[in-house]
Amino acid sequence: MTGYSAPIKDMQFLLHNVLHAEQLFLSMPDTEEVTDDLINAIIEEAGKIAGELLAPINQSGDQQGCKLENGIVTTPDGFKEAYTAYVGGGWSSLTGDTEYGGQGMPKVLSAIIEEMFFGANSSFALYTILTTGATLTLSHHASEDLKQRYLPRMYEGVWSGTMCLTEPHAGTDLGMINTRAIPTADGNYQISGTKIFITAGEHDLTDNIIHLVLARLPDAPPGPRGISLFLVPKLLLDENGNVSTEANNVSCGSLEHKMGIRASATCVLNFENSKGFLVGELNNGLSNMFTMMNYERLSMGLQGNGLAESSYQVAAGYAKERIQGRAPSGTAQADKAADPILVHADVRRMLLTMRSNIFAGRALSLYAASKLDVSRFHPDESARVHAQKLVSLLVPVQKAYCTDRGFESCVLGQQVLGGHGYIAEWGLEQNVRDARIAQIYEGANGIQALDLMGRKTVHGKGELLELLFTEMDAFVETQSDNDGMLGYLQSFAVCRQTLAETTQHVIASAADNPDEVGAASYAYMELVGNTLYCFMWQRILAAALAASAEPNADTSYLEGLIKTGEFFLSRLLPQINGLRLEIEAGAETLMAMTADQF
Ligand SMILES: Cc1cc2nc3c(=O)[nH]c(=O)nc-3n(C[C@H](O)[C@H](O)[C@H](O)COP(=O)(O)OP(=O)(O)OC[C@H]3O[C@@H](n4cnc5c(N)ncnc54)[C@H](O)[C@@H]3O)c2cc1C
Repeated sequence: MTGYSAPIKDMQFLLHNVLHAEQLFLSMPDTEEVTDDLINAIIEEAGKIAGELLAPINQSGDQQGCKLENGIVTTPDGFKEAYTAYVGGGWSSLTGDTEYGGQGMPKVLSAIIEEMFFGANSSFALYTILTTGATLTLSHHASEDLKQRYLPRMYEGVWSGTMCLTEPHAGTDLGMINTRAIPTADGNYQISGTKIFITAGEHDLTDNIIHLVLARLPDAPPGPRGISLFLVPKLLLDENGNVSTEANNVSCGSLEHKMGIRASATCVLNFENSKGFLVGELNNGLSNMFTMMNYERLSMGLQGNGLAESSYQVAAGYAKERIQGRAPSGTAQADKAADPILVHADVRRMLLTMRSNIFAGRALSLYAASKLDVSRFHPDESARVHAQKLVSLLVPVQKAYCTDRGFESCVLGQQVLGGHGYIAEWGLEQNVRDARIAQIYEGANGIQALDLMGRKTVHGKGELLELLFTEMDAFVETQSDNDGMLGYLQSFAVCRQTLAETTQHVIASAADNPDEVGAASYAYMELVGNTLYCFMWQRILAAALAASAEPNADTSYLEGLIKTGEFFLSRLLPQINGLRLEIEAGAETLMAMTADQF
């Protein structure tokens, strides 16, 4: 009943027909060996790991959870074996820097694999993505010595990584953190303080854990400009770079008891005069940490997509088998006591909402990942800078919109199963619980919306959005002679115009009233998200129409895609009208209540 099977065909269609991944990779010398054949081989292999290794320990992992005894955290049965297989297959080094033992593969490839791993077993996936994010930060900002000592083992997967930001009193507002860094005579630092909610902070999967910790020097300026980033290993290294027996006074105080991702160890970590090594410049830690946070944010969107896919697979299968009631248009299965619930329009509404959002969310994630790849690998600096600007616009939307739609899909999947969706056996209630956190961590979705609206839109007077519009217009231009696309492009034009006009409206109103940014931000993020999903559907529909005209086309599959896209355009895209009205309503009613009236 439960289980997950990687949607290889859908993924291949997006990679090859929509994104034209091989062409993209051929255009950059460092990725030119990433051919369609290589992509197919890698994702098929990853699909097997997801379906055969990770999915079978998903439900048992949730039931068993992690245990903390005498300071040691044990992961659920099967996690260690699965991790050994994951590392043995070379998956931990996929996107790593080739100079230090990584394989230098593009983000597009790892994004599709992460989605599979999150869909199969989100708790397991978290142990791996935190390490990838930590290695990325080190490869960007650490000294040569630190890179040489730590990166190879982290790429091998024998050491893992964490991200230690949050403190009991400081979550969103990291400027308030209290963890101290005291300089020592050897040029390093002693780190002391308590971090909470640290994913994979302590576990039994690796020989060492490399914590990336935000802390403050005694004489640092107050607020975010006084925060530095430190590498603090759980176990110190000897002079040969091997793990010594010398512990570094990092202890796990407790494990959080939580709603979902129960097989992921979420730890309270205490640092007591732990030896720390500075990463990057003093007082620039928050900005350096953003390298990791941007990466992790994309991963959270992938968690939303992956769990939505997992729920869709169960719900679609169930709707074809479960018989209740008769089709209003006439009996569908006269030999049975009732018809499958798939005959009911409302059940189809739920399934199509899920499927159309999953497809667009996956396409958007790959689109953002492709821009990350251009920003990393392209030989031309102006192309890299341009792509980086688009990434900065796309990441908060991908994080917030894909995780919201992902959670919504998990709830819809549960609803398709009725009471059985609420029962643990089917796994859909676990998906709901596991998907919920993605809307909260790595910056709550409200904060993503504020980032999009404030820093990325109002502050820059809509410059980044103009870059996105240029991409959209260039695509539309390629379709100007395509009669089959005419109707679809009309919907897109309306949507693009709504976004352009609403953006001008919010930029103007924010100039008069500072509360307008926060008042408009969530609906604005959803408006941009919906527009981007529409853009993705335009690209998918164009690709599906083109593929349909080829000899030996998989007609039924392509027709299904086209029908799903048409559902999106006619039934989900109109939400932009409500969003526009909500934004135009302004801040007044939000700010009218006094505190004691709440
Ligand atoms: C399971 C789990 C795993 C986690 N893993 C990690 C980890 O590995 N490392 C780590 O460092 N942290 C981790 N976190 C912490 C997580 O990133 C934070 O919980 C999250 O960023 C929100 O911070 P907070 O909980 O303090 O909420 P708060 O900052 O108190 O926010 C509460 C609410 O107020 C809103 N809000 C806050 N400030 C503003 C503002 N200026 N404007 C508008 N709205 C605002 C927020 O959007 C939110 O809805 C994890 C948390 C959980 C639950």
